[in-house]
Amino acid sequence: MAFAMGSTIQRRRIVIQGIVQGVGFRPFVYRQALGRELAGFVLNDSSGVTIEVEGTAGALDDFQRALHEETPRLARIDSVFTEVVLPLHESAFIIAHSEAGAERHALISPDTATCDDCLRELFDPRDRRYGYPFTNCTNCGPRFTIVQDVPYDRNKTTMRVFPMCPACQAEYDDPLNRRFHAQPNACPVCGPHVRLHLWANLHDRPLAEGPDPITTAAQWLASGAILAIKGLGGYHLACDALNVEAVQRLRRQKHREAKPFALMVPDIETARRLCQVNDDEAALLESRRRPIVLLNSHASSRLAPGVAPAYNTLGVMLPYTPLHHLLLNAFAAIEPGRPLLTGRLTEGRSASFVAGLDLGRAVLVMTSGNLSEEPIAYRDEDAQERLASIADGMLAHNRDIHMRCDDPVLRITTGGEQFFRRSRGYAPEPIPLTFDLPVPLLACGGHLKNTFCLSKGRQAFVSHHIGDLENLETLTSFREGIEHFERLFDIYPQAIAYDLHPEYLATKYALDREAGGVDIPQKIGVQHHHAHIASVLAEHGLQGPVIGVAADGTGYGSDGAVWGCEIMAADLLNFERLAHLSYVPLPGGEQAVRQPWRMAATYLYQAYGDAFLELDIPFVRQLDRSKWRTLAQMIIRKINSPPTSSLGRLFDSVAALIGLRSEVVYEGQAAIELETRAARIDLPDIYPFATGDTLDVLPMMRAIVSDIQQGVPTDYIAARFHRSMAELLAAACCEAREQTGLNIVALSGGVFQNQLLLERLLALLEELAFQVYINRRVPPNDGGLSLGQLAIAAARLQAK
Ligand SMILES: [Zn+2]
Ligand SMILES: [Zn+2]
Repeated sequence: MAFAMGSTIQRRRIVIQGIVQGVGFRPFVYRQALGRELAGFVLNDSSGVTIEVEGTAGALDDFQRALHEETPRLARIDSVFTEVVLPLHESAFIIAHSEAGAERHALISPDTATCDDCLRELFDPRDRRYGYPFTNCTNCGPRFTIVQDVPYDRNKTTMRVFPMCPACQAEYDDPLNRRFHAQPNACPVCGPHVRLHLWANLHDRPLAEGPDPITTAAQWLASGAILAIKGLGGYHLACDALNVEAVQRLRRQKHREAKPFALMVPDIETARRLCQVNDDEAALLESRRRPIVLLNSHASSRLAPGVAPAYNTLGVMLPYTPLHHLLLNAFAAIEPGRPLLTGRLTEGRSASFVAGLDLGRAVLVMTSGNLSEEPIAYRDEDAQERLASIADGMLAHNRDIHMRCDDPVLRITTGGEQFFRRSRGYAPEPIPLTFDLPVPLLACGGHLKNTFCLSKGRQAFVSHHIGDLENLETLTSFREGIEHFERLFDIYPQAIAYDLHPEYLATKYALDREAGGVDIPQKIGVQHHHAHIASVLAEHGLQGPVIGVAADGTGYGSDGAVWGCEIMAADLLNFERLAHLSYVPLPGGEQAVRQPWRMAATYLYQAYGDAFLELDIPFVRQLDRSKWRTLAQMIIRKINSPPTSSLGRLFDSVAALIGLRSEVVYEGQAAIELETRAARIDLPDIYPFATGDTLDVLPMMRAIVSDIQQGVPTDYIAARFHRSMAELLAAACCEAREQTGLNIVALSGGVFQNQLLLERLLALLEELAFQVYINRRVPPNDGGLSLGQLAIAAARLQAK
């Protein structure tokens, strides 16, 4: 085209889709245009951002390069469409008014950790936001948790009750300011404030008090208090992680007997004093998402033993709100034995100044603000009511949280990240699909660690972590969460995917669900483990067929049995079960999950018959014979003893058999302890097993018994068992390959949170020249089910 040549003026229309609204994208475009003396406009519209820009071809190319290379921190460009249009010979570049209804389709950014610019202001005594715990800008701060409705605008967030002062308004209106259209913008004059509440049970404790609530809170923590602290997506319960008594008291009062507490430390250096931190882990800790990262702990740290009993990993996170930064800073400034400070921040202190201290007072327990099993508290009155029995006081504030959102939990494993929980900082960012959905879809997820997923076009909005759908409050969260997502993303599902388990509350919801008084016509039941495998396919843009290995706790099988170790040939439409762990009875159903001794006894009974009672091993000697007789009757008469192929239960039974744990308080606890105990050594031999249609581990159980009888250390047995299971699954993959000719393997299911098993199996499959995929964007546990259900439902609708 002639007008594109040489120094002639050219005009281009650029349409950008992705996370480009509410993240400072228009002012960024404005600055780029201004700096190159280009004319035209930028505006938000229903598809994202549209730019028309004119200038010389060279300047325009440079402008487009900058759009890609200097994209604002929170923006994510998914696609760019460019066309040349006739130049209008304009002289200025403007931010045009958005089209009506534009933001309706905008993507809402996840909550994001305080940026470096805001941190500098926070600790700069000359800045008007010095020490202000709600400092934020377009690059950081609360988003998803404060949004009540769309379009994303201040009056549709919980910030609407704080009218901006003239100084904040001027920032908000200035396209060249970092706070241009930053909806949560605030300062000490106009914004929210913290309050410290002292509860009655603290009166007998000698605590210093100061003028500043955060410094005072830090002093309380240093004196051994437990505080409820309001964060982004809910309340935390905090105490000094080096204080043995405080940690024990928190554990007791929260009724949390076993699960480890997460920690918050001010910086990477402190994290390194507690744990091994490699470069990938450091990058993840410091990322703007600020997840809890599971790290291998140093045996020598001075942490209170109650923080993570029986674990060799710690869940660690860095501060992600200004309030966290201020609190940790103040906490670390209190030196043991010195009189407590009472002033405000000391001048010139940076967030990382504690680097030189030997742990000092730099590590806080920061665990979810709830009683065990309940969802995290996020409304102030609710927190007051529920947490008063646990905490000595509450550091709260008057900015409401609209959406509860737990901390995300990840781990770096072979080749990348692995989610244990995808939540704050990640949700509601969509997971891109490589296929088009025929109609808008809702997938309801599973029962434990529930997430749901709403989707249209090519975007899958996997929800934040909802939790175990076992009480009214979590179920309410689930329902309200779905309604909220439907409104925010303008998705009204015409088909629903659900798990086949008839008793799952999510399934009941799906079957009852109507839309505008009309039944939703298409309801698609999806088998649990097929959904696990499909979640891997959806993430990686695969259609299948693949060899799927689902290693799991429990899931409803197509034959009504409780499945949990399934080798299948699967694509997004269907699956064929090629092999599975041999069925054993699951006596007492759910009770067998809480009581691993039941599974151990059942496995021994399978391996030896009644003669197992004569075995001279500690497990059998300690077995309560009358309880066993009841159990045996249930098994023989097939009362509440469904057959199961669960791999999780096999891990439980081995843990119980070698004396680690006969009862647990949460699913997977015994298996985690088994992994923790496994010696990290390469043992030459493995236990025997048989493959085929059914994977037989009874020879393995007999060999374990023999090891116990010979006094082999439990660490060795645990290691040998892990190694043997990896060999067994690899052998099953080889048989599946021979049977089907497939060479791609997808691994999913909660058991693959076990790093020892996963890493060993990945290494074996690589040696065997398989191409292997695992979950990288959603958890392998039931938190990833909704994405898999969605992909299967879409494929089935497409095939119709
Ligand atoms: Zn910022
Ligand atoms: Zn202000």
